[in-house]
Amino acid sequence: MIRRLRRTPRRIEFFQGTIASNIDIGPVRIFDTTLRDGEQSPRTSFSYDEKRRIAATLDDMNTHVIEAGFPVNSEAEFEAVSDIAAATDTTVCGLARVVEGDIEAALDSGAEMVHTFVSTSDVQLEDSMHATREDAVERAVESVERVKEAGVECMFSPMDATRTDPEFLIEIVEAVSEVGVDWINIPDTCGVAMPTAFGETVAAVDAATDARVDVHTHDDFGMAAANAVTGFENGADQAQVSVNGIGERAGNAAYEEVVMAVESVYGVDTGIDTTQITELARIVEDASDIPVPANKPVTGRNAFAHESGIHAAGVIENADTFETGVMTPEMVGAEREFVLGKHTGTHAVRKHLEEAGFDPTDDQVRTVTKRVKEHGADKQQVTAGDVERFAREADIPETEEAVAR
Ligand code: MN
Repeated sequence: MIRRLRRTPRRIEFFQGTIASNIDIGPVRIFDTTLRDGEQSPRTSFSYDEKRRIAATLDDMNTHVIEAGFPVNSEAEFEAVSDIAAATDTTVCGLARVVEGDIEAALDSGAEMVHTFVSTSDVQLEDSMHATREDAVERAVESVERVKEAGVECMFSPMDATRTDPEFLIEIVEAVSEVGVDWINIPDTCGVAMPTAFGETVAAVDAATDARVDVHTHDDFGMAAANAVTGFENGADQAQVSVNGIGERAGNAAYEEVVMAVESVYGVDTGIDTTQITELARIVEDASDIPVPANKPVTGRNAFAHESGIHAAGVIENADTFETGVMTPEMVGAEREFVLGKHTGTHAVRKHLEEAGFDPTDDQVRTVTKRVKEHGADKQQVTAGDVERFAREADIPETEEAVAR
């Protein structure tokens, strides 16, 4: 049962400022590659059970496509893709090079979509694939034809598209489009694209094909989520993401960042149950052994935490003062937190004291605040136990309900 999120009716108000000219985007689909590119993170390997659990959660959340793996890679990988395809309601995708064995393995796995790719940049054609541009086009066309012959949805990726001769990029896109490819993915394989230039590439590819357009972005310069959103602004229907942004090198666009930007800032309903995002992030954090940084957007433990006096006092009165105003912790299944430390002010201390069952005077709040700030400067963190100790030492009376407990 999906809980639909109520849009805040005050949303428009927040967009009367500098970002009032937000570009409209159409329906948005999310292609999750946590189990494929995400698992290609250095030093990461998911067990069969971890893969099943991640896939089941993504499916339950209504993620549009799950790229479950690279079936030809190993028997275990084939089995995982196959079992996930059978167990989920959503579209499951298997990856394949433009090689017969890969395509057949992906088709045999029962994946509902085959994603086939070939390098198109000269550097990769020469020093990774050892093939010519002509070979690449020929093999891409044959591979797409085979998948379509089998009646399976087909996605084609010109790998390293953003470092490919733009004329050749359009040439190969047109060639696979002629044989009926369903999706063209534009991969920024090495993470070099900047949003404006990437948007132009997406628009050019979109204009050259009847297939739907998808983007695959990497975070080498921290542009992955920005480029995914720019893709949507320029005609892409789908973006490839991974939970916690894990993936090759600096990783992929983060599922949670792209989904929440689209839902909150653009006001587009993806159909995804965003209230499971925080739990999904924890599942992948555990399974991947890659810790989520505290300041990670959306799912970091500081994403909805406030310490400084001005911010905490504002947020206690109205969370919209110092949060986005369009994304709440409830929307992503998280909780807002008021952290006590050296930057704390009296409003947050009063709130903590009252919640702990104390009934302090203004003077007593000031006394405890002073101790919190000193302790915070010294120890970096102040626990609930510290605050209660300070309250008792300041002889603050407990409320009748607290005494009764
Ligand atoms: Mn990638």
